[in-house]
Amino acid sequence: MLRFFIDLEGTVIDSLKSRNILKFNCEQIRKYIAKRVDNEPFADEPYIVSIYTWGWKTRDEIDFSLLNMVYKAIGVDTSHAGSIYVKSDAIDWICDSLWGRMQTLNLVNEPHNVDDLKNWLLRPGAMGTFGYTKVDVANYFADSHNGKFKVVLIDDLVTESDELHVFNHLEVVNPNRLAVRIDNNIDPTVTLYTPDGQPVGEIKNTCALDNVRVQICKQHLTGFYFIYNGQKIHIDGNGNVEDWPKGCFTYLIEAAGELLVNAWGLEKQINEYKKKKGIA
Ligand SMILES: [Mg+2]
Repeated sequence: MLRFFIDLEGTVIDSLKSRNILKFNCEQIRKYIAKRVDNEPFADEPYIVSIYTWGWKTRDEIDFSLLNMVYKAIGVDTSHAGSIYVKSDAIDWICDSLWGRMQTLNLVNEPHNVDDLKNWLLRPGAMGTFGYTKVDVANYFADSHNGKFKVVLIDDLVTESDELHVFNHLEVVNPNRLAVRIDNNIDPTVTLYTPDGQPVGEIKNTCALDNVRVQICKQHLTGFYFIYNGQKIHIDGNGNVEDWPKGCFTYLIEAAGELLVNAWGLEKQINEYKKKKGIA
């Protein structure tokens, strides 16, 4: 079963004070939930969408009129609406284990007992002093239910490294990256060598490589090379690169292809051409 945990501030509304709906995010979240539910092997089990915010410290701060507005904005029918989790709930999930840890480490001078600790943790930034983020606590929650369900946390504070991390029963998504993600690391980093094998330095992108090719060509230099995936690739005196293995600064050409296919709907023609030419 899927349980979505949706953050409020910065995710579906701008802030709890001004309560403006972030329409673009909400639309992406709506699409994402639909797609995610579709791809789930046990899709016939109902999914649940909960709000999970530390912006409300205790349950008496919950504003139900705002919740109605939020569920409407992300297109979730009330039959799928789940519990609301505020900061004090998150603290409850981790508190016993944290209290145990503090006792083991002899860190119990202040606060003096679990209730003290809970109150203490409600203070802004206090969770962070113990290294707890919303992602950690959601992960703790998901793990503590032994895989009965998978939690999908949608939160604007989720970092790229959170997204790359593989959790057991938790998936994390940043709503700002649902539509468009920036990847500055598409090109590989390779070391350029002189003809006698002395390293010149690192080439980190296609422009830097092209710039090196121009310099080599202008000076009619021969014998320079770089190594990609263990393969030695020479640049000749005209700046020509000996080989272009897939992934080795080939994105520019792949991107041009993708743009043509998607902008002009040429996929069918390209596939027919490939078939005719015997290209896989
Ligand atoms: Mg937020």
